Amino acid sequence: MSASPQDLVRPDVMALSAYHVPPATGMIKLDAMENPYRLPEALRDVVSDVAHGVSLNRYPDASCTKLKSVLRESMQIPESAGIVVGNGSDELIQIIAMALAKPGATILSIEPSFVMYRMIATFCGMRYVGVPLREDFSLDVPAVLAAIEQEKPAVLFIAYPNNPTGNLFASEDIVAILQAAPGIVVIDEAYTPFAGKSFMSRLAEFPNLVVMRTLSKLGLAALRLGYMAGAKAWMDEFEKLRLPYNINTMTQAIATRVLEAGDALQEQAEIIVAERARVYHELAGLKGVKAFRSQANFVLLRVPDAVQVFNGLKARQILVKNLHAAHPMLENCIRVTIGTPAENDAFLNVLSELL
Ligand code: PMP
Repeated sequence: MSASPQDLVRPDVMALSAYHVPPATGMIKLDAMENPYRLPEALRDVVSDVAHGVSLNRYPDASCTKLKSVLRESMQIPESAGIVVGNGSDELIQIIAMALAKPGATILSIEPSFVMYRMIATFCGMRYVGVPLREDFSLDVPAVLAAIEQEKPAVLFIAYPNNPTGNLFASEDIVAILQAAPGIVVIDEAYTPFAGKSFMSRLAEFPNLVVMRTLSKLGLAALRLGYMAGAKAWMDEFEKLRLPYNINTMTQAIATRVLEAGDALQEQAEIIVAERARVYHELAGLKGVKAFRSQANFVLLRVPDAVQVFNGLKARQILVKNLHAAHPMLENCIRVTIGTPAENDAFLNVLSELL
């Protein structure tokens, strides 16, 4: 008789649930931090041009040479830094964890933050330690420094700005962590286009700093392209675990063309930032709602009953993220991505009816 999964699959994998993405057909989709706008007019032909010329019978450029040189140029990655590209930054987190997963090795992060840090620690059989943020979601630096001292993490992940809280930690606090950490510190800058602050220019100062970014929130979520930059010695090791053709030909070519064309996506990000201020202001004026200030393309809010609000919005075809059960500090919290002005109005109107 052949084995069943219970006989062969790791018990910690058996205990997991698959990452759930809710169906969204026909909905106003404000749950996944996507840019609500299509490619700017001037770039619309890029996709068809690339599709027209592509040789689907050939494997992609395994080393992504052109793409990496365009990334270096457009994202101001210092010449001294190495670059590794991933099928989304999720894959980069996994590559880092795979490389560091010696028996007993630890991933440290803060809580609440991006769930993949913990999930991937589990995937790779690593210990995970999450240091709680303060009540106001600021970084509890003494607690993080104490955890570094005690746990000696191989890697520390800090989302900057943080997801799902939306705030940007003080840069001097991050510097204190960089100076204290015995391992690498990954500053996950997924939301940097909406915050304007970055550690990219400081790579030479800190040999243990890795800056990780993605094109997903900028308007290219469908392409799945993440990249990280850091000291060459570290990037050379991580590169060994990257599957040879992880970035497909269409992604390489479209991303290259869009990045070469300049700041069009960053201009959309500025529109989203202005709209974020309006949404925050409207939310702050709603009775019963506590909105948290955000430097990202979403806003976290606390409502009297998150399940009722989430279901009420869903019944009106508006999809947001219900975080009530995600973490004790997120009791009755929902996270709404900034959409177009019309989408945001629809959300704000239905929300005020539901309260
Ligand atoms: N980092 C953070 C902080 C995120 O919120 C996300 C997406 N939710 C990611 C990384 C992953 O992005 P992607 O895999 O699309 O690049």
